[in-house]
Amino acid sequence: MNPALAPALDLSAFPRRALLDGPTPIQHLPRLSAHLGGADIYVKRDDVTGLGGGGNKLRKLEFLIGEALARGADTIITVGARQSNHARLTAAAAARIGLECELVLTRTVPRFDHDYIENGNIVLDALFGARVHDLPGSANALQFAEDRANELRTQGRNVYVCPLGGSSPTGCLGYVDCAAEIVAQSHARGLPFDRIVVPNGSSGMHAGLVAGFVAMGLDPSNIDAFTVLGNASHAHATTLDKANQTVQLIAANLRVERDAISIDEAQLGPGYGMPTDSMRAAVRLMASKEGLLLDPVYSGKAFAGLVENVTTGKYPAGQKILFVMSGGLPGLFAYRSEF
Ligand SMILES: *Cc1c(COP(=O)(O)O)cnc(C)c1O
Repeated sequence: MNPALAPALDLSAFPRRALLDGPTPIQHLPRLSAHLGGADIYVKRDDVTGLGGGGNKLRKLEFLIGEALARGADTIITVGARQSNHARLTAAAAARIGLECELVLTRTVPRFDHDYIENGNIVLDALFGARVHDLPGSANALQFAEDRANELRTQGRNVYVCPLGGSSPTGCLGYVDCAAEIVAQSHARGLPFDRIVVPNGSSGMHAGLVAGFVAMGLDPSNIDAFTVLGNASHAHATTLDKANQTVQLIAANLRVERDAISIDEAQLGPGYGMPTDSMRAAVRLMASKEGLLLDPVYSGKAFAGLVENVTTGKYPAGQKILFVMSGGLPGLFAYRSEF
């Protein structure tokens, strides 16, 4: 990327409700980088966004809640897995702003132990005052959410329904903004990153970053994503579609090319929310070398992929790699038995 050439990105046309307190820091990981003996590893601390325990969904929620408030909403409903970080942060943001919040959570991850069902994010959902609808794994959460929204509307409520992971094009604008923030920080600190590494779940973080680079006229193909939800071809199609829809919110003539999206499925393991040995090793490594916390569902798997790429020489000494830490700390308590 050549940040000097980047035009300022103007997102002021989109309604937005501030939930972050300014840019998140970029930090170098000297001990971990030396231990692995390859590229220099840096982290973008999107896990330290103060509200509600923090995490990447707050960037999306700035625009989603902005849109909800612009439409006069008094209630927000969203969907997710039982341990959804997005659901928890939607509940926290709703509490902060004074919206009613309902969460439609499905038991899609085949874990039924007490920690997974009752600990972690679910403890916090209740503290934030959200109403939780507990559905089986086979349920259509979005359909349930739409039906519930219609029921509330007949009672006079104004309901905003937010999709899985907050990854509508509007939500993805949060990561368009983050792309501009990374470029500005990289420029200010003289840190030209060779690669940016992210997890890809509902694809909004990845799609938003790609859309942001395209909108700034920069090469978007230096982002490596590790899918933690669908297989590579499914994640690729979803991400490309979301990136295009997002960039076209900014300017109708912009396009994202197929090869701008790079998805690796090597860390997916048996599926979404299913632990892998390399995830456990990556979480332990980050904690023991740097005192930083990854999560078992997203960032642990993506960071395992980064470690693999350093040890195989794909990210050699001399390169600078930026890993976007996305939060999800409560998940460690839901997966206690894995550690
Ligand atoms: C949701 C989430 C992600 C993935 O972001 P998407 O936009 O859904 O791809 C990564 N890390 C954490 C901790 C998350 O909660």
